[in-house]
Amino acid sequence: MDHQGKLIIISAPSGAGKTTIVKCLLEKNDFLEFSISACTRQKRQEEIDGKDYYFLSKDEFKNKIENNEFLEWEEVYKDHYYGTLLSELDRIWEQEKHVIFDVDVVGGLNIKKAFPDRARSIFIKPPSLEVLEQRLESRASDSAESLAIRKQKAEDELNYEMEFDEVIVNDDLEIACNKAQKILADHIR
Ligand code: ADP
Ligand code: 5GP
Repeated sequence: MDHQGKLIIISAPSGAGKTTIVKCLLEKNDFLEFSISACTRQKRQEEIDGKDYYFLSKDEFKNKIENNEFLEWEEVYKDHYYGTLLSELDRIWEQEKHVIFDVDVVGGLNIKKAFPDRARSIFIKPPSLEVLEQRLESRASDSAESLAIRKQKAEDELNYEMEFDEVIVNDDLEIACNKAQKILADHIR
């Protein structure tokens, strides 16, 4: 196959805006396809199985670990597993597209390590920890307990920006999306 599929990794602390920025890039670029992760958390009301995530039971997820079906996986939150299936890369590259990931910070760094030349890793940074917390709260998709866990993890993840190829501060959404678009265009050129 001639197509040299590339990888764009978008990582950030929860609430920084990575899902929003990924959506913005997908709307603008037909040649880009979202890597649908597998996960074991409960589906949120607005989510669609097989579109937002492949929602698996813990046993199903563990079977896939044993069968080496993951490029990377993690217990992102206690008892909640998330992972990138190798079959997603095949699915997307077979369509001669490039793949975009929305993964946590450690997952993002692991994917970059697996594909150092073909991947560009982007860290989405909130303007401040206070704004990040406000966004998590206003998104209103998490219970109080899960919100507290996300805030704690987000604080840890803010320390990783130096390890990424690029950092985008997501203050004004349009500016942030334009920056991501430029980085993407430069990478797949
Ligand atoms: P993540 O995927 O990183 O957890 P989301 O994309 O779900 O974050 O964004 C968290 C919340 O913040 C959402 O309600 C989203 O609409 C909002 N948001 C994202 N970017 C901005 C921005 N630049 N300004 C204000 N609100 C934003
Ligand atoms: P959420 O439950 O809010 O959808 O996602 C929780 C966190 O898991 C987010 O930071 C999200 O980016 C991350 N995540 C989603 N899919 C994957 C994946 O395949 N691998 C890893 N390592 N993290 C993921």
